[in-house]
Amino acid sequence: MTQEILSAEKREMAENRSDANGSLKTYDDHVPEIKFTKLFINGEFVDSVKGRTLETVDPRNLQVTARVAEGDKEDVDLAVEAARQAFDHGPWPRMPGYQRGRIMSKFAVLIEENIDELAALDTINGGKLFSFSKAMEIPYAVASLRYYAGAADKIHGEVLKMSRDLHGYTLREPIGVVGHIIPWNGPATMFMMKVAPALAAGCTMVVKPAEQTPLSALFYAHLAKKAGVPDGVINVVNGFGPTAGAAISGHMDIDMVSFTGSTEVGRIVMQAAATSNLKQVSLELGGKSPIMVFDDADLDSATDLALTGILVNKGEVCVAGSRVYVQEGIYEEFEKKIVAKAKAWSVGDPFDPNVRQGPQASKEQFEKILSYIEHGKREGATLLTGGAPLGTKGYYIQPTIFTNVTEDNVIVKDEIFGPVMSLMKFKTTEEVIKRANDTRYGLAAGILTKNIDLVNTVSRSIRAGTIWINCYLAFDNDCPFGGYKMSGFGKDYGLDALHKYLHVKSVVTPIYNSPWL
Ligand code: NAD
Repeated sequence: MTQEILSAEKREMAENRSDANGSLKTYDDHVPEIKFTKLFINGEFVDSVKGRTLETVDPRNLQVTARVAEGDKEDVDLAVEAARQAFDHGPWPRMPGYQRGRIMSKFAVLIEENIDELAALDTINGGKLFSFSKAMEIPYAVASLRYYAGAADKIHGEVLKMSRDLHGYTLREPIGVVGHIIPWNGPATMFMMKVAPALAAGCTMVVKPAEQTPLSALFYAHLAKKAGVPDGVINVVNGFGPTAGAAISGHMDIDMVSFTGSTEVGRIVMQAAATSNLKQVSLELGGKSPIMVFDDADLDSATDLALTGILVNKGEVCVAGSRVYVQEGIYEEFEKKIVAKAKAWSVGDPFDPNVRQGPQASKEQFEKILSYIEHGKREGATLLTGGAPLGTKGYYIQPTIFTNVTEDNVIVKDEIFGPVMSLMKFKTTEEVIKRANDTRYGLAAGILTKNIDLVNTVSRSIRAGTIWINCYLAFDNDCPFGGYKMSGFGKDYGLDALHKYLHVKSVVTPIYNSPWL
């Protein structure tokens, strides 16, 4: 990689965060003891049938932190058998909802009691900011658990107004055994976003965490058991996608697969579901979300918001605001400000409380982002800042902003999933709507303006599942989240997520003395 860019900008950005050799300082004393490394099946930690293991690597220093049992088809079979037994004969789907809710609330308390350890596991596994996990991500996961714990005893159907002499009503019943396949970018959020509503619904499940980040999922499984979740209800099978993941999506005894990950793998999961038992599928996939900044927006808050929108979690966020459109009247000033802020953004060890961006989660991700950056340069995009790795060790990448690009450029089209923004100028509202929609994705969009007419027009014209107005990344447990177009279908969060783990059964009976008798 270009050593010149590295040395010039590295000093500026990593101020006080590097040693004499240029390596970023590390906080090795924060590394937690790793207690759980096996598969969790039927309430027990077990080795994989074949005895294989996979490595987890600390993206700060590339050291192997653990060898974790690597599950394959045989292990998925055992986990599904346990989940099937727990669903068909166990207490979880049959107990009153309030009792499930009480156990889930206890699970939430246990997570809070272990929050430091859980946050540290996600830092050494996925390079996540320790302070962010501890103050935001894990408390949010706990809040999800409490939200659905509260919903567990409010699951009911409807009385139907039938057109003939019939009385009818609906029941909502748990869908059965669910396979959850999740990515590595938010291990706490992803685990709870899937597990909490499925638990509340009365389902049993097999969770496959991403191969890069299995450690906290195993800890959550341990805490769930301690809280009183019966054996077999939550099973965790670590492993790779084409083996353990494929065994889940193609399994004949799994009733639904809830997948979060890339659009490419989402397609494979859907095919496997179609060619096995036609299990239900929910897909939460990638994005390339636009943030549209209009002339009347406040420059300071707009630049903060747009920068955080792309750099939070080092850009490894499905809703990252990777395409920023700024109206021509404020464009020059906006560009100056956002570039200055990006240069001052602190990158370094994610245990350092002053750091805002840690290392990318894995070698694969690090190399993929850098190759997109090189592609952008080759395509003739103007690099305003960043564009290179940072430090001599670890998967750190400079916050990067390109301009002079259009929707035809690969870096504007593809999801990079890293700290790389494409900054573009627009003239009219019609133009920005057209350009913002010129993507195969439709996960989220941001609109920054004080003009209510613009807000109404643009929010209704953008084909995306979530529209944030004068805010960004404003998630809430009560707010359904999911994609349009190739960002998938099926909602997480809100009661929509609970309902996707429930079947609707119609029950019909003739009214007494009606001609049906
Ligand atoms: P990925 O698709 O590579 O992997 C996701 C999961 O699928 C992993 O557990 C992986 O092991 C598994 N998998 C891989 N191949 C499989 C196969 N053949 N069969 C079954 N499972 C398989 O995605 P990733 O790189 O882990 O995560 C990044 C992607 O996730 C990005 O595209 C991002 O936008 C998306 N994402 C979406 C949301 C959302 O809510 N829409 C949230 C977070 C991440």
